[in-house]
Amino acid sequence: MAKISPDFIQHISQQGLKSEALEQFIEHCQKPLRRSIRINDLIANKQQLVKTWQGAGYKLEPITWAENGYWINEKIKALPPGLGNFIDHQQGRFYIQEASSMLPVTALFAANPNPQMVLDIAAAPGSKTTQIAALMQNQGLIVANELSSSRLKGLYSNIQRCGVSNVCLTHADGRIFGDRTPEQFDAILLDAPCGGEGTVRKDQDALEHWSLDSVLSMSQLQKELIVSAFKALKPGGSLVYSTCTLSKEENQYVCQHLLDNFGKEVEIFSLGTLFDGAEKALTPEGYLHIYPQIFDSEGFFVACFKKVANSAKTTPETDNRFFPFEPIDRKNLQAFEQYCQHFAWSLSTIKDQIWQRKNELWYFPVNIESLIGKIKMDRMGVKLAESHKKGFRLEHQAAIAFGQEFKKNRLDLSAEETRDFYLGKDIYPDNLTSELSAEILLSYQQKPIGLGKKISNRIKNNLPRELVRDGSFSQLN
Ligand code: SAM
Repeated sequence: MAKISPDFIQHISQQGLKSEALEQFIEHCQKPLRRSIRINDLIANKQQLVKTWQGAGYKLEPITWAENGYWINEKIKALPPGLGNFIDHQQGRFYIQEASSMLPVTALFAANPNPQMVLDIAAAPGSKTTQIAALMQNQGLIVANELSSSRLKGLYSNIQRCGVSNVCLTHADGRIFGDRTPEQFDAILLDAPCGGEGTVRKDQDALEHWSLDSVLSMSQLQKELIVSAFKALKPGGSLVYSTCTLSKEENQYVCQHLLDNFGKEVEIFSLGTLFDGAEKALTPEGYLHIYPQIFDSEGFFVACFKKVANSAKTTPETDNRFFPFEPIDRKNLQAFEQYCQHFAWSLSTIKDQIWQRKNELWYFPVNIESLIGKIKMDRMGVKLAESHKKGFRLEHQAAIAFGQEFKKNRLDLSAEETRDFYLGKDIYPDNLTSELSAEILLSYQQKPIGLGKKISNRIKNNLPRELVRDGSFSQLN
């Protein structure tokens, strides 16, 4: 049972939540959250996946505000524990994401449907970064930033799992972007660190120790972050500010701070018609303030702004000395192209985006050059291969990101073999023909899962050790 601090109840009543809505709010805080997923169409075939779920008896109901978002109606059939252990999840076909948390990205693309350079300022664990990448179909560039080192690892692993190749990760305080990369991005998401008041249905203790002091200190950080974000936005670009909290200090007042600071340069992009029913959560300003009872979801806040005029642009100093990569040279490219013939993989669509550093080859998203020297990049794009005396060794992440283009030396595994592969075991497939040789791309339902090496009648498992799972691994049934 969720414990709600009386101070919090008093606080939101003072902020305008009327008694009937307050009662509904308290009632909804005690209800379990509806579970939802977002199908990742960078990897999954949406129709096919929905059919598989339906075939197993689950009822998927489309979330009106999110392309590829679905609620799972557990009144029809309850989900087993450990949705994250499903093979389809491990393979990146879906992301477990709360429905209201899909809204900020929908708003970002409504205001700017075709952004080429996107900044996700507070990105871990990556639900929205991967959602953005899917909407961009892996084109253009996303800078996904995260301050916490431990959370950065989770972000990286979700990006890898979901087959995202257009991301550059940075590990910085989001307050630096305004000065380091002014007017650089077409679209910016600031899904801000917050008090999490809206998460009480998932985290029963979220409102037990509520205090106004922590709300105010969070609000100060959010104001600094939103100013930095807006400075990093190109004229004509759009900024979405979102939180999973409910107090106005962390929401409307932060937005007001932006409006006060940038005057005519900033315009509110109203979200009143973002989807059918959005008006139920609409504030007078044009933001969405979602109490859990409105859409039977988590509590959320979403605001969207456009930058309309040019600010006095300051060009930051850049320092290219420590960027250790260079575009791939001709000789190296030829050698790598030759090696890729083993998979009948033509590099034609990506060869202009291949960079080298010592014996490493990397695929970098477009536009990366514009960031060199301005901000320290942690991981960029996809590591393709390492060269050694006898040739190249392809990386697991290259197989996941580009394996779909391989036409030779690939083998589709059964569900059981796939499970063994993820458990780190070697595979002994029945269909190991003599046409297959040496390195082999392994797939499940034709989607790449990794690499193996054919040694007589077995495939040696080349899944990186850190991705090997323990035994708790399930299939949809
Ligand atoms: N956007 C994420 C998603 O959808 O998966 C959730 C982001 S969470 C609400 C906020 C994140 O901001 C946390 O991961 C936190 O570590 C990070 N953070 C906190 N302070 C920050 C700062 N000053 N700059 C950048 N990120 C920060």
